[in-house]
Amino acid sequence: MNERDSEQVARMFVEGGYTVTSSEFDADAILVNTCSVRDQAEQKALGKMGIMGKQRRKKPHVVYGYMGCMAQSRGNELFKNTPHLDVVVGTQKYHKVFQYVDSILSKRLERRMDDPSLSFTGESICDIEEEKDSQNTIRDHVTKKNQTTAFVSIMQGCNMRCSFCIVPDTRGKERGRPISDIVDECRGLVSKGVREVTLLGQIVNLYGRTEFPKVDGKSPFVQLLEAVHEVKGLERIRFTSPHPIGYRSDLVEAFTYLPKLCSHIHFPMQSGSDAILKKMRRPYKHEKFVEICNRMKAARPDLAITTDIIVGFPGETDEDFQATVATVKELEFDNAFVFRYSKRRNTPAAEMEGQLPESVKEDRNQELLKVVNELAMKKNEVLVGTRQQVLCTGPSKTNKERLMGRTGQNKVVIFDGDEQRMTGEVFEVLIEEATGFSLYGTPVLK
Ligand code: SF4
Repeated sequence: MNERDSEQVARMFVEGGYTVTSSEFDADAILVNTCSVRDQAEQKALGKMGIMGKQRRKKPHVVYGYMGCMAQSRGNELFKNTPHLDVVVGTQKYHKVFQYVDSILSKRLERRMDDPSLSFTGESICDIEEEKDSQNTIRDHVTKKNQTTAFVSIMQGCNMRCSFCIVPDTRGKERGRPISDIVDECRGLVSKGVREVTLLGQIVNLYGRTEFPKVDGKSPFVQLLEAVHEVKGLERIRFTSPHPIGYRSDLVEAFTYLPKLCSHIHFPMQSGSDAILKKMRRPYKHEKFVEICNRMKAARPDLAITTDIIVGFPGETDEDFQATVATVKELEFDNAFVFRYSKRRNTPAAEMEGQLPESVKEDRNQELLKVVNELAMKKNEVLVGTRQQVLCTGPSKTNKERLMGRTGQNKVVIFDGDEQRMTGEVFEVLIEEATGFSLYGTPVLK
């Protein structure tokens, strides 16, 4: 989601006559889009801004800013320890970033022409107010040459209150964009060569539930999937992340009659223990989560499921943890992001009794990762010898001599071929080798 928001901001700068530099040392404005989900992410952003500030003496006109969740939650406080910071813009104000940065930069450059010593003045802007309809402002893209996939933000905010999560404070209440706007955005992307879109929302399957009515028993999200499915030239649709709440039959069924929906869902489980789910304020039980996964696998037999899991949540006993391990084995996830619980300020979980030592969290993290990696390997190995439909996205990230693509199950496939001819195409690849992370094969040419 942050990546998508950053793209929107970049687009506004491009439209305003700026160019996106490949190195921060060449830039006149440097913006760090921040994430608050984990403490580590905030520390990284603070460290990065600190290092960049050392350039101020060499290039005093440069504008420095924070955007996103940490900007939203900390606001003016961020200026205290960062004297070179100029702009702090919250999650509902991405569309104002250009205006703020451009005004400061223009003033500085004008002054510099008169007298270089006057180029740095201390003006700063902090805007973290709520803004009605801000969800409708994340809609423009900076498509790159041969870009085949794109993220489309369909909503903002979250009405849940998971006890470990800072998002409801940083992103506000759920707000969905109109279906017609989203479809137009997808059409525009397809006209620029995009073949696959990923619809983004904090709880994507709850899209539009407070704004738009059900039609023929179908939720607004399923109505949206059907509308996007109609976009000519679009080959694949993904979405992330759904929540067990609101994951109803209409969505399960959509996988039986919408072939462009990819055979993969990223479905955060967080824990396999009912006691921990309750403490997390996740309003479902382990049984319900398993039931949805099984119904989804029945609807789409080749469905791959990946998940997010937090280990070492306050009060998590060995039994709770083993319940998580058992559920991972039962559901045979294709992969999982395993996180050690980390305290987030202003969240109920941070104040809970039963905080666990880091060593316990680390041991559980390692134990669960071992299980996850073995399953990922097993799931990939069974694909050796099969032919998989792959959307080629261009050169491999690790070896520019080779090409890469993804299967409908979202598995990375590496192969040889002609970049110009194959990028953006969907074709079969015979899978010949597998690791836990990637598949390797040969395109089947017709
Ligand atoms: S569902 Fe829970 S974890 Fe996800 S964004 Fe909302 S509050 Fe955070």
